[in-house]
Amino acid sequence: MKSKIDAATGYRLRYSSFDRSSNENVISFLLNEKFEVELGQEGYSLLVSTERIEVRANATQGLFYGLMTLLQLLPPEIEGEAGRLNNLNIQCLQIKDFPRFQWRGIMLDVSRHFQPKEFIKSYIVQLAKYKYNIFHWHLTDDHGWRIEIEGLSKLTEIGAWKPSRIGRPGRFEPPQPHEMNTEGGFYTQSDIKEIVAFAKEHFITIVPEIDLPGHSLALITAYPDMSCTKTKYPPQVGTPGFNGSLEVCVGNVYTWQILDSIFTQVCELFPSEYVHIGGDEVRYDFWLNCSHDRRLMETEGLSSGADLQAYFTSKLEKLVLSKGKKIIGWDDILHGQLDSSSIAMSWRGLGLEKNAAVRGHNAIMCPENFTYLNYAQGDTIVEPYFPRTIRLSTSYEFDPIAPSLPDSLHRYILGGQGNLWTENVFHYRHVEYMTWPRAIALSEVFWSPLPKRNWVNFCDKIEDHFLRFDYANINYSRALYDPIISGVIDSTIVVEKYESDTSFYPEFHGQFLDPRIKVVLSSEVPGLDIYYTFDNSNPDNFYSKYDGKPITIPKGALGDSEIRVVTYRNGKPIGRQINCKLAEAAKRLQL
Ligand SMILES: [Zn+2]
Repeated sequence: MKSKIDAATGYRLRYSSFDRSSNENVISFLLNEKFEVELGQEGYSLLVSTERIEVRANATQGLFYGLMTLLQLLPPEIEGEAGRLNNLNIQCLQIKDFPRFQWRGIMLDVSRHFQPKEFIKSYIVQLAKYKYNIFHWHLTDDHGWRIEIEGLSKLTEIGAWKPSRIGRPGRFEPPQPHEMNTEGGFYTQSDIKEIVAFAKEHFITIVPEIDLPGHSLALITAYPDMSCTKTKYPPQVGTPGFNGSLEVCVGNVYTWQILDSIFTQVCELFPSEYVHIGGDEVRYDFWLNCSHDRRLMETEGLSSGADLQAYFTSKLEKLVLSKGKKIIGWDDILHGQLDSSSIAMSWRGLGLEKNAAVRGHNAIMCPENFTYLNYAQGDTIVEPYFPRTIRLSTSYEFDPIAPSLPDSLHRYILGGQGNLWTENVFHYRHVEYMTWPRAIALSEVFWSPLPKRNWVNFCDKIEDHFLRFDYANINYSRALYDPIISGVIDSTIVVEKYESDTSFYPEFHGQFLDPRIKVVLSSEVPGLDIYYTFDNSNPDNFYSKYDGKPITIPKGALGDSEIRVVTYRNGKPIGRQINCKLAEAAKRLQL
């Protein structure tokens, strides 16, 4: 705080240990002499009066969150470089604040695309500002192994590298013979220690993930004998289909020797109580065709691939428990018997958290449809490529406690998490863009009491945060100001046979629209004016203004014609212009 105030204003604040006789003109941070139960370890109280600013808490973590709030109460320029502010104003207030959930996490996948150490530290600083206390670090997957393991140097010499591909993942050509593996990277053990210590200073626990038994191609490229086929596979670069994801062989003792070395070191490097073992999206065909695994299934009386996965999870869990840690896995691990200490991370929704809770397991809620930060945040026409959208308002609506979850099971829900998978995210600026502001919405979901949440207030508040991001040079999305385009069927319109028109204009076959379709426009943020054109010109506030009623598509417009839409606020453009083919609008029918 001192460095921020000093930098932004040119003030020179002075530190001193608390002196009760000089109680004025100070910002004091005080630990409660008597533990205040309501505040717990993370809560704080904040008093701003004309004489002084005072933060009180039971523990230093609470003082830290009090400080984060205090910084947010100062003007946005506080996030900027030196000398922009002449004075700092803060309103007088009194706050008592503590989190609703103990687990407030963000997951970043650094396997699909590696991010350098300095960025990880900057990301941790950003997360801490929004009172996140967990950084779930997805360190391994098919595309790259990112953590140095002593004695297993091929993991990072081979498993951390792949041929470079730029463009849209999923459509890349496979690695070619003799192609150089030029893209990738990894964290040395010294990097890991540095980042873990840095995170600790920001009251963030790093939970490492070693994704097993599936999503293990990088591990297998380094040590091919860990696969069922013992084949030397090329690295995964983002080719079509799902063939680049491989399982480790469960029935081969060699697998377990390597896993023992890996988890011994991972458990030593990370002070976290938990290690994430992955467990998601396992295919069974390799196992079912493998002599080692068939034999194991016979000996253990396992009748399916799912049973073999449960056996794997249980064996890996015992290994991790023997190193003094507990496991977390994606909700796919719930098939089979687990130690009661194990946590399910519920990504598929489907009430799997209830499944976990009924069996006495804690659960962390990160259902794909609300918390996946790799989804586009606005119209896919203008967003970086991703086929589906989770808007800011959708993230904000999320509640980790599903209405269908019985009261008696609520205590099993530890909290929630936003997850950023990076198949489509290459650059660190894009990581920031996908994270913010949705991670602000989620931070409020995880911290604040449900009745305090209000979307309209949130829209007001978020603008101040955008300014802060601007000063701090953090990238973020302003998609919430964009127009939203969809279609509706007007069933009062009776149509005989519109397709017959194609007999006159065969070259336009397939472009004729159902004449009952009308276009509907909206925006996430209230109070925006929406303007549109059908004539291929770019609209401004002199064009037709949307009046809230479905728009009739003009005569002559075909499926490949566009509606172009912009948003304005107080006479100034605010969102991006979206040009949407009418055939596309017609596909977006509101039910
Ligand atoms: Zn096998």
